[in-house]
Amino acid sequence: MANFDHTFDVVIVGSGGAAMGTALGAVDEKLSVVMLEGTDKWGGSTAMSGGGMWLPNNPLMQRDGVADSREAALTYMEECVGSDYRATSRARKEAFVDSVGDLVHTAEKYGVKFVRAAEYPDYYPELPGGRIGRAIEVKPLDSKVLGEWYDTMRLTAPLPIMTDDVWLIQRAWSTWAGFKRGASLVRRMLGFVATGKRGVGIGAAFATAFFQAVVAKGGAQLWLDSPAEELIVEDGRVVGVRITRNGRTETVGATRGVMLAGGGFDRNDEMRREHHGIDQESSGNPGNLGVPISLGERAGAALELMDDAWWGASIDGAGDSDPSFIVGERALPYSIMVDQHGERFANEAESYVDLGHHMLEHDKDGAYWIIGDARHARRYMRTYAIDPRANKALKAEGKLAQAKSIEELATKLSMDPARLRATVDRFNGFARAGIDDDFARGKSAYDRYYGDPSVVPNANLGPLEKGPFTAYRVVIGDLGTKGGVVTDEFARALREDGSVIEGLYSAGNNSASVMGRTYPGPGSTIGPAAVFGLRAARFMASAG
Ligand SMILES: Cc1cc2nc3c(=O)[nH]c(=O)nc-3n(C[C@H](O)[C@H](O)[C@H](O)COP(=O)(O)OP(=O)(O)OC[C@H]3O[C@@H](n4cnc5c(N)ncnc54)[C@H](O)[C@@H]3O)c2cc1C
Repeated sequence: MANFDHTFDVVIVGSGGAAMGTALGAVDEKLSVVMLEGTDKWGGSTAMSGGGMWLPNNPLMQRDGVADSREAALTYMEECVGSDYRATSRARKEAFVDSVGDLVHTAEKYGVKFVRAAEYPDYYPELPGGRIGRAIEVKPLDSKVLGEWYDTMRLTAPLPIMTDDVWLIQRAWSTWAGFKRGASLVRRMLGFVATGKRGVGIGAAFATAFFQAVVAKGGAQLWLDSPAEELIVEDGRVVGVRITRNGRTETVGATRGVMLAGGGFDRNDEMRREHHGIDQESSGNPGNLGVPISLGERAGAALELMDDAWWGASIDGAGDSDPSFIVGERALPYSIMVDQHGERFANEAESYVDLGHHMLEHDKDGAYWIIGDARHARRYMRTYAIDPRANKALKAEGKLAQAKSIEELATKLSMDPARLRATVDRFNGFARAGIDDDFARGKSAYDRYYGDPSVVPNANLGPLEKGPFTAYRVVIGDLGTKGGVVTDEFARALREDGSVIEGLYSAGNNSASVMGRTYPGPGSTIGPAAVFGLRAARFMASAG
């Protein structure tokens, strides 16, 4: 075997959810392990994220007595994911569902504390096997445990928030439940501050807790500024990685295997244009450039789902600033989304991946707008509308318009006023009747999760009738890409002919998703990323 500058049992490219899941398994199997992070910040999109993990039939549900089963989970996945791809095979779905318990129990063994997002439905809860409350997340915790590693975490939300806070707080001043949740968040924040702690929640809580588990307690190493640039292959087996570290090339040998967990190609403009045909407006980690996907491909791995992503509507950013991914706002009453002609084109409240697909199908190059009336602005916290400086810049760039009437707004948006008026009148009729005859907005429990129950007869509909009316420009954004290396049920990289590339594994957005083209429930990316990472490590340990 070649001489390496360093040697570990398991070498992981990346430091997000897939990497942490792999490291957890390696630590638990008493294997030596290093996570190589290409940038100066660790945690990837995972640390920036909502931190939710869709883990059907998980131990927390069992402890709470919430009905679920392996069969229900698999039935649901077959219904909404299908089996059209190697990534979505029955064997991989079973592998995912069957290792949920292992992930949760192993993480708990190393001190990770989870809570359920008990009210969050699957994204198609009415399908056979659909449920409410399958997602879990790491409980908010004190990030001071990280010491100086805190400064290098890819942190975007340094608050001890939780998933179910987000949708309730949006209506903190329009509903009692929202107000109570807002007050409980303030209490939680003060509780951390009063005890000298620095609370973090959602994705940052995941990163903090898993870092503690695998690095601080488990002895895994994490190297920053260490991009993987080449795989080292000997006699057809991947045996290590060539990296740049401290300005020089170093080699890292892997006796058990190399895990490619370097995320998607979210921010690689060239790859985005090639595979998606649009300029990227991603909310993903800036370091996700797709290099580890290319490394897998160069080693002979098959790729799948490269034309897809975890799409979603996003408010266009001012200047060079990133777009703002929107979820709850477009489901709340007194608002609609329209295309450049002033026509609705989809159920605004549907899952983000579905809405993204609909935007792509409808007009992938066109402009879209979210229009709300005065009540939408007054009653609900719209994350994209909070910063007055951003609003000013958006207005100057023509990405935000306001007007006293729908007709005047249409003129400002270069739309035919009569056409937008007709769209609004039709929608207002649906709102009064409580049934959206065009797109069934508000029919699914998923839509209603983000709705306002104080608005009747439909919590997702409310007529647009009170000016001023506001329009924000919406683009096709995403939370990252979902195509990559084809893997089997142990996350082993596969060639086009189905044979295994010895020593090479991939998980998370570096690999083609077990969720195929859809998004079954909250946390459908981080859940499988961590589970398949863990499975890979277990396999590496058993394979010797
Ligand atoms: C705002 C936001 C909210 C989200 N909320 C959720 C949610 O609640 N639930 C959910 O399931 N998903 C959510 N997502 C999506 C989710 O965050 C990602 O799909 C997931 O974190 C991907 O995990 P990963 O481990 O594959 O990649 P990442 O977490 O992105 O980690 C990949 C890491 O690899 C590094 N890397 C890249 N190239 C190299 C290289 N050559 N060498 C070494 N390192 C390299 C990157 O810098 C990065 O740190 C959200 C995303 C965003 C942006």
